[in-house]
Amino acid sequence: MKYQIYTARNYRQIAQIDKISKEDQRTIDVVAHVLPFKTNNYVTDELIDWNNYKNDPIFILNFPQKGMLNPEHFNRIAMLVDSGADTNIIKEEANKIRHQLNPHPAGQAHNLPVLRGEKLTGAQHKYNETMLFFPSQGQTCHAYCTFCFRWPQFTGMDNLKFAMKEVDAIVDYLREHPEISDLLITGGDPMVMSANVLDTYISKILDADIPHLQNIRIGSKSLAFWPYRYLTDPDADDLLRVFEKVTASGRTLAFMAHFNHPTELSTPAVKDAVKRIRATGAQIRTQSPLLNHINASSMVWSEMWKKQVQMGMIPYYMFIARDTGAQEYFGVSLNRAWDIFRRAYTKVSGIARTVRGPSMSCTPGKVRVSGVTEINGEKVFALEFIQGRNSDWVNRPFFAKYDPNALWMDDLKPAFGKKEFFFEEELAEMLLD
Ligand code: SF4
Repeated sequence: MKYQIYTARNYRQIAQIDKISKEDQRTIDVVAHVLPFKTNNYVTDELIDWNNYKNDPIFILNFPQKGMLNPEHFNRIAMLVDSGADTNIIKEEANKIRHQLNPHPAGQAHNLPVLRGEKLTGAQHKYNETMLFFPSQGQTCHAYCTFCFRWPQFTGMDNLKFAMKEVDAIVDYLREHPEISDLLITGGDPMVMSANVLDTYISKILDADIPHLQNIRIGSKSLAFWPYRYLTDPDADDLLRVFEKVTASGRTLAFMAHFNHPTELSTPAVKDAVKRIRATGAQIRTQSPLLNHINASSMVWSEMWKKQVQMGMIPYYMFIARDTGAQEYFGVSLNRAWDIFRRAYTKVSGIARTVRGPSMSCTPGKVRVSGVTEINGEKVFALEFIQGRNSDWVNRPFFAKYDPNALWMDDLKPAFGKKEFFFEEELAEMLLD
C-alpha cells in the first residue's frame, strides 16, 4: 500500500472530500493554522465512516474541529483567513494563540538530563528507572491526533521542540546512571524513521552493552495510523529484523502502542501487523487518553481492552487528557474519568486488568484517581502516584477535596483542611534545580 499524506494544503484531494460540508472544510482551514493537521489514505479509506463523519471518532481524532479553539481564537483566525490576509500575519496571530495553550505541560522543561554540564535537549529523565529519547528523525507521525499533547513538536515552534541526533551522549548518560533500566524511544513517532536509521540507534545502544539497561521501549501510534509500516513498506522486513536484534540481545522490547478506539483494531492490516511485531519476540502494551467526542464511554474502553487481549496485547494505561492544546474540547472531568474507568474495568476479565488509570501525567508524576469516597463526612478524591519525581511518593494514598468539575491536578485542593499535598514542598525544591 502506498502511503499518501494529506495536510491542510492538499486534503481536498482525498477521495471522500465531497462528504465534508463546506462549513466543516472552512473549520479545518481555520483551526489547522493553529494546531497541526495531518492524515493519510489508510485513515481516510479504511477507518473513517464517511456516512456519519461528523460523529465518527476517527474523523474527530484526525480532522480539526471547531471546538478545539475557543470562540475568540477561532474568530480571530477566521477573520484573517476570510479576508485573505498574508500568511505571515496569520502565522504571527496563530503563534500568539499557541503560547496561550500551555505548550509545555507537566514541567517537561525540568526533565532535561545533564551530561558533563550540558543539557541533553533530546532526552528526558523524570522517573528514576526510565529515560526518554527523542531521535531527531522521529519527530513527526504518520497522521496527527487532534488532541496531541506534543503538538508544539509539529507546529514549527522550534524553541519548544525536543529532539537530538547524538545517541553517543545518550549512551554516556545511561552508563553514568545505573538506576535506569528502561530507555523509551519516543517522538512524534519513532516508527516514521527508516529501518536503517533505527538500526543505527539501536545498534549503538546494544553495542554499548550497558548491563543495567534491561528494557527498550518504543512509543508509537503507527499500528493505528499506518499498520502497513510492518507489512508493505519497502523496509518493513528490515524494521522487524531490528526488533529481533533487541530481543535476541536478551532485552525486552516493549512496543507501547497507542490506540484510541476499537475501530483502530478492526482492519486486517492492523491484525497482521500486530502478529508480525509479536513474532519478533516484542511485547505490545497499549495506552490511550480518555477523550471527549472520541472514546468517553465505558463500553468503548471495555471493548478496546478485550480486543487488545484477544490480539495478544497487554492493556497498560488510561490517561487523562493533558492540560494543553485543545484540552477544553477533549477533557473529561476526573470524576467522570474514574467512573468510566471503573465501569469498563468491571466488564473485563483478570487478564485485561493489567490496565492502570485513569492517570494524569503531571508535574509531580503520574497521579491515578483511585476513586471517589467519603471520609469523616467529607467527600474526597482518593489519589495515588503510579510514578513520582521522587519514587518514594509512589503508592501512598492521598486525598483531595471532591470537585465535580476538576479536569486536572492543578484544579485539586487538599482535603481535610490541609494547606498542601504531602509532596508539594519537596516538589517546589526539585523544580528550583
Ligand atoms: S501519535 Fe502521539 S505524538 Fe503523534 S500526534 Fe498522536 S498523540 Fe501526538
